[in-house]
Formats: sequence, C-alpha cells, structure tokens
Amino acid sequence: MPNWNAQLKERFGLENFHSWQQEAVEGLLGDPGKVMLIAPTGGGKSLCYQFPATELEGTSIVISPLIALMEDQVRALQQRGIPSTYIASTLDPEQRRHREQQLAEGAYKLVYIAPERLASGSMLGVIARVQPSLIAIDEAHCISQWGHDFRPSYLELSRLIDHIQPKRIIACTATATLVVREEIQARLGLQSSDTKVILRGFSRPNLHLSCLETENSVQRRSALTHALTTTLGSANAPTGGGIVYASTRKNTEKHADFLKSKGWNVAPYHAGLEASNRESTSQRFSEKQLDLVVATNAFGMGIDRDDIRAVVHVQAPGSVEAYYQEVGRAGRDGQPAHGLLLTSSSDFGLRRRLIGLGDPDNANPKRSQQLWRLFLDLMAYVEAGSCRHDFILRYFGDEKETLGGCGHCDVCQALEESGKDPNAASLSEAETLIIRKALSGVARNRGRAGMAAVTDMLHGADNDRMRKLGLDQLSTHGLLSSHTRPWIQALLRRLMTAGLVDLTPDEFPVPLLTSQGAQVMKGQTPIRIRFPAPDVGQRSAAKRAATTSTASTGKHSSRKTLPDLSEQDIILFEALRSTRMEIAKDKGVPAYVICHDRTLRDIAQKHPKNLEELGQAFGMGPARLESYGTQLLDTVKTARPTPA
Ligand code: ADP
Ligand code: ZN
Repeated sequence: MPNWNAQLKERFGLENFHSWQQEAVEGLLGDPGKVMLIAPTGGGKSLCYQFPATELEGTSIVISPLIALMEDQVRALQQRGIPSTYIASTLDPEQRRHREQQLAEGAYKLVYIAPERLASGSMLGVIARVQPSLIAIDEAHCISQWGHDFRPSYLELSRLIDHIQPKRIIACTATATLVVREEIQARLGLQSSDTKVILRGFSRPNLHLSCLETENSVQRRSALTHALTTTLGSANAPTGGGIVYASTRKNTEKHADFLKSKGWNVAPYHAGLEASNRESTSQRFSEKQLDLVVATNAFGMGIDRDDIRAVVHVQAPGSVEAYYQEVGRAGRDGQPAHGLLLTSSSDFGLRRRLIGLGDPDNANPKRSQQLWRLFLDLMAYVEAGSCRHDFILRYFGDEKETLGGCGHCDVCQALEESGKDPNAASLSEAETLIIRKALSGVARNRGRAGMAAVTDMLHGADNDRMRKLGLDQLSTHGLLSSHTRPWIQALLRRLMTAGLVDLTPDEFPVPLLTSQGAQVMKGQTPIRIRFPAPDVGQRSAAKRAATTSTASTGKHSSRKTLPDLSEQDIILFEALRSTRMEIAKDKGVPAYVICHDRTLRDIAQKHPKNLEELGQAFGMGPARLESYGTQLLDTVKTARPTPA
C-alpha cells in the first residue's frame, strides 16, 4: 500500500487518509483506474480526486453542478498553490474564453466545469485536445433519471466520456440507491467488472430517528413544539439550532410565524425570497445568531453548523435520499440529535401535485412515475417495522454498517417497550409461523401477480381473478384466511421494509422473496420485525395466534421487559457497562451509541463464548460485532470465566 502521507500533509495539510479515501485513491491511480464512490456529504470525497490530480501529470477535469461549491474548492486549491479554475455559464464570455484558452495550453492542474458547458462543441474540443489525466464527476446521481435530482445537462457526460475515453474516471455522490448506481455506471461506462465501487459512512448512530402520523395541523404544531423544546430547551435560551422542513413556500411562512409567536428566534427560507434575504438567513443561522430556520428543501446546501440538535419535517419530503440528506444535517458534532418526520394522509395528494403525477399537461409522465416510486419508498420507511437506521443503511446498500437494531429509534424503542426483541426468539412461535406462511405465499406466487392479488390469495379470496391467475390452486391459497386483507397487506409491507420481500421495478411491480426472505421462510434465519397490530375485524383464531402482538400497541406493560439476572450475571453486567464506557470515551460518542443496556443484559445472561454467539445477543449487528465485539467478549471471559 503506497504511503502518501508526506504529500498529503504538504499539499492539503491533512495527517492521513480515511481508509476508504486511500482505497479510492489507490483505485484511481491503479489500473484500470475506474472508481464509483458513494459517501455522505462532508465525508471528504473531493480529496479522492484532488489528491490524484496533484500526483498525475497534466490536467484533471472535474464536472460539478454547484457553482458556489466550485468557487470554494478552486479558492482553497489556489491558496494551496495548486493551479486551478472553473468554467461556468455565469462567467462573462471574455473571462470564459480566457480560461478555456489557458486550459487548452495546459496551464491548470485542476479545472472544474459546469455540466451545461459540455453542450458547447468548442468545450468538448478543448477537453479532447488536453487529454485529461482524469475525469471526476461530482454529484454523479444527477445523471440518473431514477434519482431525485436529475439534470438533463448531465446526459452530455456520456458523449464526453465516449469521445475522449479517459484513462481514469471517478464518479462521486452522496446519495445513490442501487438502481441509481447502476444507471450512473451504465451511462459513464463504469462496468462492474472493472470498476471499484466504494460505499461508506452512512451510519449516523447519534441520530434519534422517529416518525409520527398526524391527523391535523393542531397535532402537527404541538408535535413540532414538543420536539423543539425537548431537544433545544426553551425558546429564549435554546442549546443548539434546529431546522424545520416544509414542502411548500406558504407552509414555511406559516410555521415560521407560528414559531415566532411562541417566542423562537426563527426565519423562513425558500426560493421565493430575495437572494439577499436568503443569504442573510443562512449566514445568521451558520453564525448561531438565529436558532431556527423553517425551510423548503432549498435550504441546507453548504450550511456549516455542527450543533444542529433537531431536524423536524412537518410534511414528508420526496424520497428516502432527500430525507436522509436533510435529517443528516443534525448532530454533525457527534452528540445526540433528533430527526422527527411528521406525516399525514394529505402528504400523498400534495406529493402527487408537486411532481405533476396525473397532470394532463405533464411533459414527462415517466419521470413523475419514477418520482412517485421514490416517494412510496419513503412511505415504506415511515411504515418500517424494524430499526429505522438499519432500514436506511439497507436502502443505500451499506449493509456493513447495519447494527441489527440501534436501540434508540422509535421502532427499536417500541420493540423494547413491548418486551419484544427484534430477534426471532422473542416472536411467538405462532407469529413466526404466520410470517413464514406469508413468505411462502410470496414464493408460490412466482412473480405472476402483484401485491393486491398475493394478499387476496393468502386471505383465500374466491374470485375470477384468483382463478384466472391460477392462484386459487396454490397450496398457500387461504393460508392466512383468519386475517383481514388490510392486516395481511400491512404484514407484507413490513416484510418488505425488513428486506425479506422486494418489488420488481416494473410499471406493475410484483413481489419476490429476497435471499434473506427465503432463509427466513425456511426457518434458517431469525426474524426481526414488528408485527402489525391486529385490526378490529379480525376473527378469533387470528387473535389467539397473535395475542402477543397486541403488546406492540403498548397496552401490555405488565410484560417483563428485561430478563432477570442472577447475582453472578449482575456482576458481569456491571463489568460490561464499564467496558462500554471505555469504548464510548475512546470513540468520543455517547454510551448508548455503543449499545443499549438491554444488549449488555442479554450478553450478561447468555455469556457468549465466541463472536458468533455474541452476535446472537439483542441488538448486536455486524457493525457492532466488528468494532468492539472482541472487547465485550474479553470482558465476559475475565469477569465470568466459563467452566473448562
Ligand atoms: P464531500 O465532497 O464528501 O461532501 P469534502 O470533500 O468537501 O466532502 O470534505 C469535507 C471536509 O472534510 C473538508 O473540510 C475536508 O478538509 C475534510 N477532510 C476530508 N478528508 C479528510 C481527512 N482525511 N482528514 C481530515 N479531514 C478531512
Ligand atoms: Zn433503531
């Protein structure tokens, strides 16, 4: 592994690379020099092309859609003595020609180019003549029509890449689900066979995530003020800042007025306000002269404030990616921060209008369909019956960092209160059986029908549609006949959000088992989901089968929530707590981020002998196991030696 620390220090004033940065730089400087990098905003992606650009001979080209960001980066590079510039349509023609000429003469090490410039033939010619040593594409998801931020000008990139066949290419983005990633790779010629894909750093365990379904604006306002006062304290002396997101300009103003009337130091922010007004709001917020901003999604880019303690959405945003980016602005200092997403049934209609779905004048109905699908993904997040952090990590494909339950999101807490581990052992046998029946229904369907028909089939419906599809002949027909359709549907949604069932990305999506779903169906893997509450119309057999699931409504508080520990176990439990404290101090995070008391109790009771057994403990996901499994295990061994 090459050691670039000296150059890194000299040119960028940094001590060392993050491990994934090193990986990206090695990939880019190696052969065939193709990298796809997915890491959160502020993670340090730009270094992954800036550094190689300084190592390589000749000029490197960076495509970026954000002019303010280009300016910042170019200024910083120039200050470090690295010749660089940017070319965008905002420059006057004279200036632009000058920079293009300098570029053609090879005067720069790095040149940032706005995508819309690529449409000009002369620009393409200049780039071809320079034969850039590397091409970096920032915000690469803008090329994807599946993404939430599609920019038609990015399509020019395919032509550019085709035309100049660069030796080295890196695509960077902070948000890319698998579909988007595949589209980026296809369009940029980054075939999976020879491209290094690096996906890191989506885990934000210090964020408390929760969702709340509200019925009216009175409820929303009271949930909003409650969230703000519990996280920030009083309106006149808050600790830290907060952002409230709304979907429309009018709503930002209304909520800002409301919060002002409650004594908060607050301003609205949306694209309809004067530029000077907006600038002053961002600046005052960044400088902590303003405590709250109520904004549309126009706000947040480049906000440099690390003590944001709360991000509250009073209306649902457009996608999981947008939500994650917005809520991710909280808690950058690593201290606890809260993300609350308020939803209501009006969100659906509003979102349809915002994206022009069903609008007869819509110029791009296909695009609207795609945006609608992204919104439904967010609604699946709202519905999630398993840990919200793990849902997001799975959504982005960052499986390595999943925790197997964070212990402090609203879903984890509900599971804990109801005395139900997200581990299989705590689901009753009857419940486990119901889940396996539902999964086998999905499997037997063999992709022939959609969710509604599968629900009907499991419910045992007897109609033409069932007969036509041959679903009435399946052994799984009527397997869940004692449950209502809505309940079965809710269960299937939970199975979907837990990653056991997936939908095909077609116009008429059909459910399929994932490999994890298949394992659960066969009883090979424990199940981690929250059961839907039984509904009123449910018949008695179902009630019997799912008695324990009423606990998820929180009514059965008499249920034991913590296992009894023997005296020996309590000694071990205390030892584990001090180990946790040490780890937390070491990492500079609150103790609950390391793991919950419940996890330690479970370990104290099970006294695992190896990492595999430790992995079975409540809330011990692969990430925790890898990071401090050994330390916890050592504590078990010393505090309570197992008999030989
Ligand atoms: P991104 O492009 O991923 O949004 P940036 O490249 O703008 O993020 O980096 C964000 C910040 O992180 C910058 O201030 C940068 O100096 C800092 N940074 C990047 N890499 C490192 C590193 N290896 N060590 C310390 N700081 C770093
Ligand atoms: Zn959780």
